[in-house]
Amino acid sequence: MSDRSECTTLTAAEASRRLARREFSARELTDAHLARIEEVEPAVHAYLHVMADVARTQADTADKRIAAGDTTPLTGIPIALKDILCTVDAPTTAASRILEGYRSPYDATVVRRLREQGAVFLGKTNTDEFAMGSSTENSAFGPTRNPWDTSRVPGGSSGGSAASVAAEEAMLALGSDTGGSIRQPAGFCGVVGMKPTYGRVSRYGLIAFASSLDQIGPFARSVEDAAILLGAIAGHDSFDSTSLTAAVPDYLAGFREDLRGVRVGVAREYIVEGMEPGVDGAVKGAISHLESLGAELVEISLPHTEYALATYYVTAPAEASANLARFDGVKYGLRLEEPTLLATYERTRGEGFGSEVKRRIMLGTYALSSGYYDAYYVKAQKVRTLIKKDFEEAFEKVHVIAAPTSPTVAFPLGARTDDPYQMYLADVFTIPANMAGIPGIAVPCGFSDGLPVSLQLLGKSLDESTILAVAHAYERATGWNRHRPTTVAGLNV
Ligand code: GLN
Repeated sequence: MSDRSECTTLTAAEASRRLARREFSARELTDAHLARIEEVEPAVHAYLHVMADVARTQADTADKRIAAGDTTPLTGIPIALKDILCTVDAPTTAASRILEGYRSPYDATVVRRLREQGAVFLGKTNTDEFAMGSSTENSAFGPTRNPWDTSRVPGGSSGGSAASVAAEEAMLALGSDTGGSIRQPAGFCGVVGMKPTYGRVSRYGLIAFASSLDQIGPFARSVEDAAILLGAIAGHDSFDSTSLTAAVPDYLAGFREDLRGVRVGVAREYIVEGMEPGVDGAVKGAISHLESLGAELVEISLPHTEYALATYYVTAPAEASANLARFDGVKYGLRLEEPTLLATYERTRGEGFGSEVKRRIMLGTYALSSGYYDAYYVKAQKVRTLIKKDFEEAFEKVHVIAAPTSPTVAFPLGARTDDPYQMYLADVFTIPANMAGIPGIAVPCGFSDGLPVSLQLLGKSLDESTILAVAHAYERATGWNRHRPTTVAGLNV
């Protein structure tokens, strides 16, 4: 069976079972995805580089492993990688002109781990430049479009990864989440997306945006698949000094059908005025559904939530301004030669970076500068501690916190590009988890005017198992994840 309409719709868990039963080969599965990419990419533009030859070679190797009985749950499974993860066999650009032509001499740890487990890499996905944005419109190589409505954004910054999974151009994908960049696009594209605990997954080989916030995580079309992919990439790595040594549990072992005994916190700060009515209704419906599965709802308060966005927009640009100092035309990618070294730096950075990246570098440099450092950066770190404490106190009372993933559904392309503040507001519900370092998952929970709405579940530090188990029970009971876009720009797909 190599008919795409059958095998590209499967979950990775199901595809793995069928590969083992030889219902189709890894090569057929990969070819079906490559055909699908060819069909829908003109409308979606989820990928910056399709790795067709690499993918076919990996698929053939996977078929040999399957024949030899030497498999993992990801052997032969086609996966897309956000183009901010270093790969030796494809360009890595972070969707920036300044990295055009750059090829990493090493694989990111997550990439190496997936490679060793026999996964197939379909390509590198589009993102906002250096992961700065909420719509993928800040890519230097053109935006990605939302497969549910191609006049709308897929969210961001990992919009390409989210769209590839939603449009069946990949079975799974990896993204990075610094302030919501996995959960928000997963929500806009109607797929599952997860940010693990800070330190749970190695950041080695992830091009750094804000090092104290960045985390790599999975996109999938089911919670089970997200758990499988997380299990495959999590765990200590001596190449990342912030990586945690805690053992990685079997995430599937905790899955259950009912939620009896689970206390779900509902924070009054997350149920706010001004939400889109369709989003508000779907999220409230989802929270009631958790109760009908046996969960006990507990009202909680996270009083410092209102400061999270401001704190983030001091901390993240400050760290970005330091991290992006290395792109100067000497070691990486673009170099626009001028008579003096200073002029070469200036021209390379002036023409190589896009306007949002420049805005962040300026904001961050200002916040770190002498005289302002204490007023902005140090103050932001103090508020960050208060945000973290809010969550710690809440998790003494509840096992998980339920909230919307975003206040709106996917917005039209261009709707927020002229107003950075409106763009920043898209992450108002996702950013607090990054500030606190805790895990969060976004799961489909309905539709508003035909566009996906998403429920966010936040968990205690290192307790990915509980949010995965609750998300799985919810998904199993509702089946929202099984809805797929039926047309992409008029193509019946
Ligand atoms: N949208 C947020 C920003 O622009 C978060 C981005 C991210 O998580 N990478 O910074």
